[in-house]
Amino acid sequence: MTGLRFTCQRGCINCCDRPGFVYLTEDDLKRAAQFVGMTPRAFEKKYVYRTRHQMRFRKPREKQCPFLLEHSCSLHPAKPTQCRTFPFWPELVENRKEWSRTGEYCPGIGKGPLIQIGTAMELAEEHRRFAKNGD
Ligand code: SF4
Ligand code: SF4
Repeated sequence: MTGLRFTCQRGCINCCDRPGFVYLTEDDLKRAAQFVGMTPRAFEKKYVYRTRHQMRFRKPREKQCPFLLEHSCSLHPAKPTQCRTFPFWPELVENRKEWSRTGEYCPGIGKGPLIQIGTAMELAEEHRRFAKNGD
């Protein structure tokens, strides 16, 4: 692939609404806590499930993420790396079939200006580092 087209579509929450967990780094936790005006400790107690090796948002019963609103993310400027780098995840940008498959639920894929593959890979690398830290 030489480049990818992607522009997130206003009002879409498809990726947030899919089954799965939102994993966090320590920095993600601090940023999100600051954004909502809580201490990291209080934020963690309320929203985060931590094991020895990783942290993720607790999943409310009626939706996939505690910060998911009807048509947007209430944490948007401080959303976790996993969310911020989607769909530029290594397993998607490195595999044309997976990228196309993701386009079945992400209407932003295939839209907008061509993003150079180098830029896409940098974002993928950031995600890879994040995933490694979460191990
Ligand atoms: S934090 Fe925001 S972007 Fe991430 S899954 Fe939750 S609602 Fe979506
Ligand atoms: S599914 Fe795609 S277009 Fe929709 S919010 Fe997620 S990244 Fe944006």
